[in-house]
Amino acid sequence: MAECTDLSLSISPSDPPLAAIALGSNLGEPLRQLRSAVQMLAQTAGIDVLAYSPWYYTVPVGPPQPNYWNGCLIARVQLSPWALLKTLQRIEVQFGRQRQEHWGARTLDLDLLLYGDRVITTAELTLPHPRLAERPFVLAPLAAIAPHWRHPVLGETIQTLRQQVGDVGIIAVLSDDAGETMCATVADRQPPERR
Ligand code: ADP
Ligand code: MG
Repeated sequence: MAECTDLSLSISPSDPPLAAIALGSNLGEPLRQLRSAVQMLAQTAGIDVLAYSPWYYTVPVGPPQPNYWNGCLIARVQLSPWALLKTLQRIEVQFGRQRQEHWGARTLDLDLLLYGDRVITTAELTLPHPRLAERPFVLAPLAAIAPHWRHPVLGETIQTLRQQVGDVGIIAVLSDDAGETMCATVADRQPPERR
């Protein structure tokens, strides 16, 4: 599994669809949980994880809470969008049970950001993810692995959307490959909305 490969350049219509999944955590041991969630997804039938982003340390928005670690992954999927969402929720619950036992709080959020060029507008599942285009903590990691993927509603690439929102709220970036913090951007203000 490669980190930081631009898979959006190699999308073939004949292949099973690509899905983009956001991962976030701010309680327990976030990086350990996020890495373990990537492994769990990679071991799930019907999900072939192709790449995952570096991890972004980000400022929370909303009620006082610890900073987040966020990342994204790209997978080739042989599950419907709804089955994939159910799988993500099942994995969240698995981590949630661990959290309740050990840390008493939520430690993993898995959101389905994009599923090929599918557009779905139901309460249970909205695609593309409704807040994708306004969240630097999602667009920054997604742009690291799929900059040329085009948002099927807005018509802009992830790279362009990421440039539009800037680095607000991103404190630091940690690459598993490099094994060290590669850059730091001090957040001087918070994005307007989160979760
Ligand atoms: P958030 O991720 O915004 O903090 P939750 O993880 O608690 O919120 O999810 C809230 C609801 O959002 C879920 O019940 C789920 O069915 C719904 N939902 C709709 N579209 C999506 C999507 N693209 N990805 C994840 N959840 C979604
Ligand atoms: Mg969620």
